[in-house]
Amino acid sequence: MAKTKYIFVTGGVVSSLGKGIISSSVGKLLQARGYNVTIQKFDPYINIDPGTLNPYEHGECYVTVDGMETDLDLGHYERFTGIQTTKANSLTTGRIYKAVIDKERRGDYLGKTIQVVPHITDEIKRNVKLLGQKYHYDFVITEIGGTIGDIESAPFMEAIRQLKWELGKNALNLHLTYVPYLHAAGELKTKPTQHSVKELQSVGIQPDILVLRTEKHLPDQMRKKVAAFCNVDLDCVIQSEDLPSIYEVPVNMQKQGLDTAILRKVGEPIGETPSLGPWRAFLERRNRATEEVKIGIVGKYDLQDAYKSIREALSQAGTYNDHKTVITFINSEHITEENVAEKLAGQDGIMICPGFGQRGIEGKIIAAHYTRTHNIPTFGICLGMQMMVIEFARNVLGYADANSREIDEKTPHNVIDIMEEQKNITNMGGTMRLGAYECVLKQDSRVMNIYKQEYIQERHRHRYEFNNEYLQEFERHGMMCVGRNPESDLVEIVEIPGLKWYIGTQFHPEYQSTVLKPHPLFVDFVKNAIDNKKK
Ligand code: GLN
Repeated sequence: MAKTKYIFVTGGVVSSLGKGIISSSVGKLLQARGYNVTIQKFDPYINIDPGTLNPYEHGECYVTVDGMETDLDLGHYERFTGIQTTKANSLTTGRIYKAVIDKERRGDYLGKTIQVVPHITDEIKRNVKLLGQKYHYDFVITEIGGTIGDIESAPFMEAIRQLKWELGKNALNLHLTYVPYLHAAGELKTKPTQHSVKELQSVGIQPDILVLRTEKHLPDQMRKKVAAFCNVDLDCVIQSEDLPSIYEVPVNMQKQGLDTAILRKVGEPIGETPSLGPWRAFLERRNRATEEVKIGIVGKYDLQDAYKSIREALSQAGTYNDHKTVITFINSEHITEENVAEKLAGQDGIMICPGFGQRGIEGKIIAAHYTRTHNIPTFGICLGMQMMVIEFARNVLGYADANSREIDEKTPHNVIDIMEEQKNITNMGGTMRLGAYECVLKQDSRVMNIYKQEYIQERHRHRYEFNNEYLQEFERHGMMCVGRNPESDLVEIVEIPGLKWYIGTQFHPEYQSTVLKPHPLFVDFVKNAIDNKKK
C-alpha cells in the first residue's frame, strides 16, 4: 500500500463500551484482507505506564515482548490479531510529557516556550506516525482511552484533528457511543450519541464511522436518524449489540460492512470479503462446547479485569478441549486451613494467580498445599509459582519459616529470593525483569512434552526468583526445576511429576495465548482438569 492509513478510535457517552474490542475487531478484519496492521493505545493518565497502578484502577497490567508494562487492551489486540505489540503501541500522557520535558532539558527547543499546542500535540502526532513511517504498517489503529469531553484527553483530540486535516483521506475517525434502552419508556435513545458527536465536532473532529453499542437491536430508522443528525453515511453507522462472547464481534462487524466502509473511506479497493475461516471455526467449536470444566482462580483481586489474560487463556483452552470453562474467583484472603476444602470444593483445577505483596498470600500457600496433597490439577503463575515453592519448602522440606524475601526480609529459609540485579533498584516504574526471555526445557519433562520443543520464549514481570541454593534439595524431594534461563540459570518452571498436573511458571504464559494459537500450557492444564473431573 502506498501510504499508511490511520484510524482513530474514540469513545463517547460512557466509558467501558469496549473500544479495545472494536479496535481489535477492526484490526482483525483488515488483517484478514491481507493488510499489515498494528493497534496502538493512548491512555490519558499521567502515569508513565500502568506498571505502577493497582489492578483495581485499570485491571491487569499487560506485558509486551519487549518488556513494556501496558494497558490490558493490548492483550485484546494480540489475542484477536496474533500480532505482537511493542513499546511503541502503548503511550500515556505521562510518557508524552516526559519526552517533551526531557527534550526541553536537553535544550532541543532552542529557547522556545514549551506549550501543549504545538509541543505536546506534536509529540503525540510523532508517536502516531512513527508506527506508519518506521514500521511501514498499512493501517495504524490508534485507540484513545477515556471519553470525549474529558479534560485530560483534550490534547489527544487536538492531535487527531490536526492529523485528520494533514492526512486527508488517509485518516479517519471511528467514534464509539452508547444507545441506552429506557425500560420504563420501552425505547432506545439516540440523543446521547448526538450530543457526543456534537462534542467531538466542537473540537473540530467529524467522525467518519459511528459504532453504536446497544443492548437491543436498532431498527434501520434509528440508524438513519443518527446518520442524518451526525453527518455520517448510513453504511457507516454500525451497531454493536451485546453478544455472548467478545470473539463474536469481528464477525458481527464484518456482516454489517464495517471493514468495507473503512476501505471505501480511505480509497482502498474493496475486493472479496474474507471468509474468516479459522476464526469462525473457533466460534463454532466454542458454541458447541457446552459441557463445563470448572477452574477456581485463587487470587486477591475481586475484579474480573485484574486477571484478564488468565481468564481469556483459560476460556480459549476450554474451547480447544471442547469444553466451556467456568471460572470461579476464590479470594485467597479468606482461605484458611479450616475452610480450604470447602472453598475449593467442586473445582476441577486450580489456578494460583500472580501478584505482589503480603495480602492474601497465606491463602495461596494453603490452597497449594491442599491441591498438592489432594492431587488436584494446579497451575501457579509467577507469585503463584513462588507460593507453590514456599508451600513445598514448609511442608515437605520441613522449613516451617520458609518464605519469599518479598514477604519476610529476614527469613532464614529464603527459598524465593530477590534477584541480584534487583537489589539496588529504588525506582518502582519499569524496573522489574520484564518482557520475553529464553527458557530451556528439561528433556523428558512434562513441560517439554507439552511444548514439544526444547527452547521457548515467555514474558516476565517479577523481582524475585527461585533460590538456586535449594535446588538440589527440592529435586531430591520431588519438586523438579524443569525450565531454566540459559544465561542466568534462573528457574523458570517447577513441576511435581508424580501428580496429575502440578506446574508453576515464573513467567506469564497467559500473555501469549491468542484465539487462534492458544497457549499449550493452558490447553494441557484444562485437559487435565477435565480428566480429573471425569475420574
Ligand atoms: N511479586 C512477585 C515478584 O516480584 C511475583 C510477581 C508476579 O506475580 N507478577 O517476583
